[in-house]
Amino acid sequence: MNRAQPKASHFINGAYVEDKAGRPIEVIYPATGEVIATVYAATSEIIEMALASAVAAQAEWAKVSGMERGRILRRAADILRYRNHDLSVLETLDTGKPLQETLVADATSGADALEYFGGIAAGVTGEHISLSGGDFVYTVREPLGVCVGIGAWNYPTQIACWKGAPALACGNAMVFKPSETTPLSSLKVAEILHEAGLPAGVYNVVQGMGEVGDALVTDPRVAKVSLTGSATTGKKVYAAAAAGMKHVTMELGGKSPLIVFDDADLEDAVGGAILGNFYSSGQVCSNGTRVFVQKGIKDAFLARLKERVEAAVIGDPLDEATNFGPMVSQGQLDIVQRYIDLGVAEGARLITGGARLNIDGYFVQPTVFADVLDDMTIAREEIFGPVMSVLDFETEDEVIARANDTVYGLAGGVFTADLTRGHRVVGALEAGSCWINTYNQAPVEEPFGGVKASGVGRENSKAAIEHYSQVKSIYVAMAPVDAPF
Ligand code: NDP
Repeated sequence: MNRAQPKASHFINGAYVEDKAGRPIEVIYPATGEVIATVYAATSEIIEMALASAVAAQAEWAKVSGMERGRILRRAADILRYRNHDLSVLETLDTGKPLQETLVADATSGADALEYFGGIAAGVTGEHISLSGGDFVYTVREPLGVCVGIGAWNYPTQIACWKGAPALACGNAMVFKPSETTPLSSLKVAEILHEAGLPAGVYNVVQGMGEVGDALVTDPRVAKVSLTGSATTGKKVYAAAAAGMKHVTMELGGKSPLIVFDDADLEDAVGGAILGNFYSSGQVCSNGTRVFVQKGIKDAFLARLKERVEAAVIGDPLDEATNFGPMVSQGQLDIVQRYIDLGVAEGARLITGGARLNIDGYFVQPTVFADVLDDMTIAREEIFGPVMSVLDFETEDEVIARANDTVYGLAGGVFTADLTRGHRVVGALEAGSCWINTYNQAPVEEPFGGVKASGVGRENSKAAIEHYSQVKSIYVAMAPVDAPF
């Protein structure tokens, strides 16, 4: 019981803060259903404390040189890496994701973001523009102010860092609200940032459900909101932010296509489809859940896919041999089961999986449907679980049109041995992030984000700097003012 209990629910102004007047939130280890910690949702006093400390700290942080800001972020990256094992265990307890994954994908990718943005903090500069007569303009890239980060539950450490690192590098302060389902890891990120020398108040974490997020988003002191969540929540948060004319980054859901041509390397294509559907038990926004397979390779693809999926090691996520864990919650398990039932009812052919496991925890088998048609519910709606839909296709033009026939546009991938076709197809995909002959790679150097209903803005890479800073232009006259009267 309570084996992952944090020192307190919130981290504000450089210290843990508790206020048990807030609604209790039980943290459940998804592999057993056991309550491992309890935190309390932020009360209005806690929200006020977090925002007031962020406002005060931001004014001072903006005066710190980029070089020094970067040094602190890079120090935090080193601490994250040094403590990777403990942080990974905590992430596994928080999310249920196998330790085999969290050891290489969570605190490590958070550290990459801190290191990357730490490295470019000193390079966030403006430009000089020469004009006629010796006049000139120079620009200054200024911070936005207080930024609010709101996270989903699938990558709690990574999301806390992907939002925090560029925000802090640019001289902003942040108030971060993790998902109520996974409230533990971002507290550690805050603790480590301060251990690395971050001034108190620059990065704060408050707990709570949507109403806490809403209170933060609508506060007039907040300049920017960065949300990772569903498209439904994204629309609400975007609208609330627009009412205050705030900057936004919206990292939302998807129903991405992964296209396998006949000439693809079979093992690579099957491996890509597995990575793009079953990593983190399918709880990844950019997953290629509509796998379009050209008719000539379909039988071989399905046979090899079934073989490899049935070799998944499902069970105790803390055992490093396990490579497929539970759903994050009972609620998510129920959603996934409902979609599996719908797939069967609508006539898709179940190739493998489909059943809950008869053990404690929220486990469902990795599931593959074949003969899926474009208008079936499992091919249209984001499931956010380990359910792969395989659809047949014949021609390139046909598959591009069908791949783009979705409200979403987060990601897309193509497997083919024909280099020109690979580039041509991703060029035609309506998606923010594409892969050729791989799937779901998201290094911090690469811009990440969606088009259409999958969001606005980009995380990571130099592109994120644009979304956490604003340009001030200064015109300098070098000649007398020539006024008409
Ligand atoms: P939700 O949209 O349910 O929640 C996202 C966050 O928003 C949570 O912290 C939630 O709080 C909070 N929230 C809910 N309502 C409001 C509101 N009105 N105002 C402010 N904040 C609010 O998403 P999930 O947590 O269920 O995550 C799964 C979704 O996230 C999927 O659609 C997935 O595709 C997407 N996602 C997108 C990624 C991307 O980068 N594009 C990456 C990862 C996931 P609480 O949970 O406490 O209610």
